Amino acid sequence: MSNSALTGPRRGLLAAGLMALGIGMLPRTAGAAAPLLPAGQKATPQTLPPLPFAPTALDPVISEKTFSFHHGKHHKAYFDNLAKLVAGTPEATQTLEEIILASATDPARKGVFNNAAQAWNHNFYWSSLSPEAQTPTGPLAAAIARDFGSFETLKTQLAAVCVAQFASGWGWLVHDNGKLKLVSTSNADIPFLHGQTPLLTIDVWEHAYYLDAQNRRADYVKGVVESHLNWRFAELNFAG
Ligand code: MN
Repeated sequence: MSNSALTGPRRGLLAAGLMALGIGMLPRTAGAAAPLLPAGQKATPQTLPPLPFAPTALDPVISEKTFSFHHGKHHKAYFDNLAKLVAGTPEATQTLEEIILASATDPARKGVFNNAAQAWNHNFYWSSLSPEAQTPTGPLAAAIARDFGSFETLKTQLAAVCVAQFASGWGWLVHDNGKLKLVSTSNADIPFLHGQTPLLTIDVWEHAYYLDAQNRRADYVKGVVESHLNWRFAELNFAG
């Protein structure tokens, strides 16, 4: 795959959106772990990005009240906690990806890993959401047809993976050795630590949906999968 599938205005809009998130569209050679990191997610600063849409844009599936807590409190806290943990160390000026890769296998640095990974995961989650319903196009649509049979089947299976994740975690569409797969991770874990490139994610921690759907995770997941996934973002990551 190459970025040539995304050219002109579409790529420009994506670049603008990612820049708004503080995410630079760097060449794929940037960063030590570039092969496993999705496009535009290779050098993320330790700075809470603004939401890439109005906080009312996904109502009623995700309300403004949920975004105010989820982005303004939970996501902000991961950055604030990380800043305290790395203050005065060389990691204070490193990217989230550098910190995540360096701390992931060190039990003594679980706090650093959890906060850096959750900061990264939420950046990726906001980018995975879209105010309006979209459908995959181009090479990604072809790969979905090849690996899932149809877009409808992919959506059904993605929702099932998200609902089945026990306790806190994330549901993901990933690219793994030339094949699309659906996986879930627990707590702050990220597919790029397991040789998989994330294309899209859905947060299934209770704080992602409890104010809107209480215990009905399946309702939240269905609403996101059917109407609010950013397939342009997934295409960019697939091409990257
Ligand atoms: Mn969350």
